Amino acid sequence: MLAFDLVRASIHPDEPTGQDDGDGPIPRTHHSDLRDAYLDALDLLEGGLSALTADLAAEDAVQAAFQRDLALAPNGARWASSFAEPLAFAGGARQLVRQVEVCASAVAASAARTPAGIPRFACGLWPDPRPAARSFAAGDGVVVLLNTGLLAALRIVVQTVAASIRTLRELPERWVDGDLPLGYQSGAMSDVLERCQTGRDVRAEPIQISIHTGGADLFRRHAMLSAYCQVIAHELGHWAQRRPGPDDTWLDDNPDFQRAARVTSPAQWAQPIDEVDELATANSENHADAIACEIQTRPPLGPGYPSPSQVIGAMAPWALHSGLWWAAAAHTDKHLGWTHPYPEIRLGLTALRLGQPASELANLRASRPRPVATEPPAPGTPADMALKFQAWSEVMLDIAANRQVALDRGLESRASTWDRFTIEVDRRLKELP
Ligand SMILES: [Zn+2]
Repeated sequence: MLAFDLVRASIHPDEPTGQDDGDGPIPRTHHSDLRDAYLDALDLLEGGLSALTADLAAEDAVQAAFQRDLALAPNGARWASSFAEPLAFAGGARQLVRQVEVCASAVAASAARTPAGIPRFACGLWPDPRPAARSFAAGDGVVVLLNTGLLAALRIVVQTVAASIRTLRELPERWVDGDLPLGYQSGAMSDVLERCQTGRDVRAEPIQISIHTGGADLFRRHAMLSAYCQVIAHELGHWAQRRPGPDDTWLDDNPDFQRAARVTSPAQWAQPIDEVDELATANSENHADAIACEIQTRPPLGPGYPSPSQVIGAMAPWALHSGLWWAAAAHTDKHLGWTHPYPEIRLGLTALRLGQPASELANLRASRPRPVATEPPAPGTPADMALKFQAWSEVMLDIAANRQVALDRGLESRASTWDRFTIEVDRRLKELP
């Protein structure tokens, strides 16, 4: 039970800053209650404890694989301790638990600097290979459940992006050359997509690791931090009291529009059935994404003008989601779900919200259209690298190829009304002369 004790002892014990207990008639839910709510949820999950113990063992196996490869590399032994640190994002049970703590604390501090009104929360690891995260209310607080499969898959996506870092910085014409053979990177991503789709553990043998040094490794570590924080911040966005409005205002949230996303127990994730529900969930996802980006721009996460590593890290969850969405659309008969709008829109909007200079960001939230920049962004800027990361995702995650197959097959009975509408608009825009 050592592994479970490790988790139990450390479910985000740090109090978020800037929130007091209030003097109102409703007592504030404390972290200990949120921790209990998480442990209760885990208790209700059949085989949950043993699955979590196996997950943590798999993380230790990943860390061992990193250390084994380091020992084989010339001078690699010098880096051994650096790759054993939690923020090396190189596997390890204790390291993973600490990563979640650090990211949750950082998100709490940044969220407190937004007008969003984010409730007190706790983050817990959830033993599930599917790349997703969820949240539920406990009292007036929130418990965020991070699937271990999502965290592991993001590690592989981001380490593969880091292998392309020079390409992402350089000219588009040099794109195809890459830093590593195209086949290596695209093989890594095909493996992740396939394992995620078949519900297999992305950490199972053969364990995918790639060791970077210098600037590429700094990029990887920061992008990982940003990716985990984006997932947590997005979940919290569903529970915000206010959302961004035009011209830098914040509007009160409409809880009716969040009803599909807000549940009070993990057994309660509702199944919306009509178009109003679909529209509500699409809107609530969009607001949660916007709030997550606002959180990313506040200290300690961001200074207001993020770096390429922060932007690309924040985009990584949606790139993975987009890859999986189109792979399922092209190669399965599954319904594609109603909770998440056409994934490239989320990828692109995260790029715009975080990658653009402040003036462009203001345009996004202007009540009247203003002239937008027509010059392409300068090479190496966050905006430029965000665009190139989108191009990278289209190729490496098979998005472009699978989209073509899926659209040829038709999505009539398998996607939400909103998704089909968006796809149709996108298609007609591309047909314009
Ligand atoms: Zn969501």
